[in-house]
Amino acid sequence: IPYQPDPARYDGQMPYHRCGRSGLDLPAISLGLWQNFGGTDVFETGRAILRRAFDRGVTHFDLANNYGPPFGSAEENFGRIMAADFAAHRDELVISSKAGWDMWPGPYGGPSGSRKYVIASCDQSLKRMGLDYVDIFYSHRVDESTPLEETMGALAHLHAQGKALYVGISSYSPELTRAAAAILAEHKVPLLIHQPSYSLLNRWIEGGLLDTLADLGTGCIAFSPLAQGMLTDKYLTGVPEGARVTKGRSLKEGFLTDENMARIRTLADIAAARGQSLAQMAIAWVLRDSRVTSALIGARNVEQLDNSLDAVKRLDFAEEELSAIEAATAE
Ligand code: NDP
Repeated sequence: IPYQPDPARYDGQMPYHRCGRSGLDLPAISLGLWQNFGGTDVFETGRAILRRAFDRGVTHFDLANNYGPPFGSAEENFGRIMAADFAAHRDELVISSKAGWDMWPGPYGGPSGSRKYVIASCDQSLKRMGLDYVDIFYSHRVDESTPLEETMGALAHLHAQGKALYVGISSYSPELTRAAAAILAEHKVPLLIHQPSYSLLNRWIEGGLLDTLADLGTGCIAFSPLAQGMLTDKYLTGVPEGARVTKGRSLKEGFLTDENMARIRTLADIAAARGQSLAQMAIAWVLRDSRVTSALIGARNVEQLDNSLDAVKRLDFAEEELSAIEAATAE
């Protein structure tokens, strides 16, 4: 049966936030395809997650050249799902991709910020996804060995060609963010968005980046707001089968220190008192700052997605809750 999205998907269940000083709105919660959508994952599970997300008002899907594994396979799978399920809904979607990390062999395949790599990588991503353009194309990381002018010039070129409607950067320092925005401005290209990591357990953007973004009029989409699953109840009673920690790639068992587990337990109690899951509170918490446009989550199945999206049912925090959270996460 062809996919028919829920006609009630825009009936107020998902808030949309303006991205910096632009004309573009993003859903409060966006979905990333870094993990769980690759060639080694079950295709129909990923497809069900994407459909469910769209049914619940998630209009932004985030990818990158090397999401998988293997590299490129998340974009390939997304391209299949795009063609099968979302072709009629392209203009309801904000689709992003990135280049910066390892991608193909040889001197031009990354990690890099060269014009050669960034432009070729965007073209490859468009082919894999079967798209004419992405809505946002990112420089995925700072490449200290490439002049910033060259990397930003490549983004501006993709923007001028219409292959990227908007451009963004990920994990740049406040200083380099300011410099990147200034170079893009010379090309008459606004810096739409920055994609940094941000969660209850990782608060580096509070040390200047958020202020810089507000000043520049650049939006902020916070990746890994669940700290890759640590900010859920899954590790409270051991390590469950299939959890990301067991894959040993990006989330190492070493992160589950006694210190972190003690913090997570206290946070879970605060969440319970709010009538939320810890995942829901962790998402609501990154969104408490109006400078954060969207929380960029991952999900391994539809149940997790549903649980996380229910965060929007309680986004407000009482002062006492915020101070209890501060105390629980202080060094
Ligand atoms: P999260 O912090 O949201 O972690 C997602 C993981 O948490 C899931 O895969 C699952 O892990 C677990 N989980 C999610 N929801 C629940 C729930 N309700 N209950 C219990 N467990 C849950 O984000 P990710 O680390 O996946 O990153 C999200 C996106 O951010 C990526 O897809 C990507 O688009 C972007 N990103 C960007 C980076 C960059 O450099 N720009 C770097 C990293 C991510 P499990 O499998 O253990 O169940």
